[in-house]
Amino acid sequence: MIIGILKDSGAERRVALLPAEVAAVRKTGIDVLTEKGAGEKAFTGDDAYLSAGALVRERSEVISESSVLLTVNTLPETDLDLCSEGQVICSVVNPAENGAWLEKARIKGLTVLALDLVPRITRAMDVLSSMATVAGYKAVLAAASVLPKFFPMFMSAAGTIKPSKVLILGAGVAGLQALAVARKLGAVVEVFDVRSAVREEVKSLGGKFIEVEGATEDKSAGGYAVEQTEEYRRKQQELIQKCASASDVVIATAQIPGRRAPLLILKETVMAMKPGSVIVDLAASTGGNCELTENDRTIVVNGVTIIGKSDFPSEMPADASKMFGSNIVNLLKIITEKDGSLNLNMEDEIIAGTTAVHKKEYISQRAKQMLGIK
Ligand code: NAD
Repeated sequence: MIIGILKDSGAERRVALLPAEVAAVRKTGIDVLTEKGAGEKAFTGDDAYLSAGALVRERSEVISESSVLLTVNTLPETDLDLCSEGQVICSVVNPAENGAWLEKARIKGLTVLALDLVPRITRAMDVLSSMATVAGYKAVLAAASVLPKFFPMFMSAAGTIKPSKVLILGAGVAGLQALAVARKLGAVVEVFDVRSAVREEVKSLGGKFIEVEGATEDKSAGGYAVEQTEEYRRKQQELIQKCASASDVVIATAQIPGRRAPLLILKETVMAMKPGSVIVDLAASTGGNCELTENDRTIVVNGVTIIGKSDFPSEMPADASKMFGSNIVNLLKIITEKDGSLNLNMEDEIIAGTTAVHKKEYISQRAKQMLGIK
């Protein structure tokens, strides 16, 4: 099997596989082609790929000669035209927003492995968890760089400065990472989630867990949250307003997969917050946890900075690519035979869950749900 690493287009700075992961893949009998300059935005030159055993080629050659094509985000449609039936493309797909793209790939007979559909039971292959880790870390740094105050307590000859208060909404992967980083920077941190199962984790990382009684929880949701009742939502918004108005920073990470992000910070809450305080809304691309968030923009309302950045992982391309590539290497292990040939066994729940389309059929149940296909 030959896998091809293509350079991502636009502002994306990550690359799907770095040379260290290329070397790991080569050991399993797989050949690797890399597009010229594929890793340059992640500070990795073609020479490093050559040293790891990859061949460096023009984009069109990588597309025509590889059986599996790797990118971080979906291939541009013009590249889909150059692919041939049976070829496998593997990237984050976001089926809910890329239905037409997926349909085009299906009609062409391509196989699409959607890294964002990898079941979360398999952390070793879950790029959403890896990238949420990066986002949680960067969110705190982004807030600290805008906040007109210190995060830690300071005792100096010039007086004592109180530590900043940080409120984190959602204690999933990004939220727990944000908690750990905010604590390391010395802030006092409160964390809010609808899943009581995360209480102990929050406490062990030094956060104070706050909750509203009466949350709807569903153990069959695979560790994810579910929709809450109208009454619960109202009580929750009131409590969040009380906590947010006493905080210097709010990091919002609440999500329910496949749905609009839950609305937790209303306009009134922003108006009640202290001037100079900062909201980082990691859920910006799915509508935002804050009513005023604008996707991929930073705005200031009533002296409160609201950061709606959706590409934090791309801002840390070296380590984000490293984590992304490790997830891909682990996925490649389960779709490859000992002799390095490809084997997509749809009896395997991870492979069936990750395969959006194959042999002109939609496969993944989650992709079908998102696209409204029976
Ligand atoms: P996750 O599913 O692991 O965590 C989300 C948490 O939100 C869960 O613990 C869930 O219980 C909680 N939650 C759901 N509804 C809630 C509610 N009403 N009130 C309080 N908590 C609630 O998700 P994750 O992987 O940590 O990702 C978090 C967010 O970060 C997602 O929106 C994701 O798309 C986003 N993200 C953003 C970037 C970026 O660059 N901005 C990068 C990666 C991920």
